[in-house]
Amino acid sequence: MTKAPPLVAGNWKMNGTRDSLWEVARVRDAVASGGAGRAEVLICPPATLLMAAAALCEGSPLKLGGQDCHAEPSGAFTGDISAPMLKDAGASYVIVGHSERRAGHQESDETVRRKTMAALDAGLCAIVCVGETAPERKAGEALAVAGRQIAGSIPKSAPPQRIAIAYEPVWAIGSGLTPGLKEIAEMHGFIREKLFAVWPGQGGVTRILYGGSVKPENAAELLSAKNVDGALVGGASLSAEAFMKIAGFYR
Ligand code: PEP
Repeated sequence: MTKAPPLVAGNWKMNGTRDSLWEVARVRDAVASGGAGRAEVLICPPATLLMAAAALCEGSPLKLGGQDCHAEPSGAFTGDISAPMLKDAGASYVIVGHSERRAGHQESDETVRRKTMAALDAGLCAIVCVGETAPERKAGEALAVAGRQIAGSIPKSAPPQRIAIAYEPVWAIGSGLTPGLKEIAEMHGFIREKLFAVWPGQGGVTRILYGGSVKPENAAELLSAKNVDGALVGGASLSAEAFMKIAGFYR
């Protein structure tokens, strides 16, 4: 089984109105002219923009994704969005288990696992986020936390090539702080071992993204660390120029 190309994913979070679609069009054009080389590029806008973004990206290699999905395909869940709905709106990916959802919406590993299953059942690829808080890192528990989240959030029956793991230390998100290269390589190597434990012989095909304050200035260093197969980018993905400078690492 061959490994998918690197993945550079943008998470717009709760940012963006129709005006922001210009940024999607700029990324689309930059990707079309080879600005990300062999990498796959993905934007996860707010759900309100997904259909309009999909219309702009028709025929383009730029992929679109959701930022979360419900574990059920439909039903009485006011305000929620299901994986089949995201697929129908033009998504091919969905982020699950982002720390802002784990913390702000009390999502457990079991909830994330069910959401991952729902995404796969709908034909989406899932980006499963894991990562420790600052107190957990200080206590020397970073690897144990990520290991527990992976074991609890990834369904064993999932095809490994349709899952990407995003290692996002909670303390690095939106803070301007990043772990050292040694810490990133240690964590990504550990995650790789865990993936081989889930899928013996096949854990090498799953992409492991780094996320947390990735910027044009630090992208080359972060993306060159061992076992880093791409990035999940928050703040810097809101600007097409900054986002493409990051994705341009793979040119
Ligand atoms: C994120 O929220 O997934 C993220 C990585 O954010 P930022 O790049 O802004 O730290």
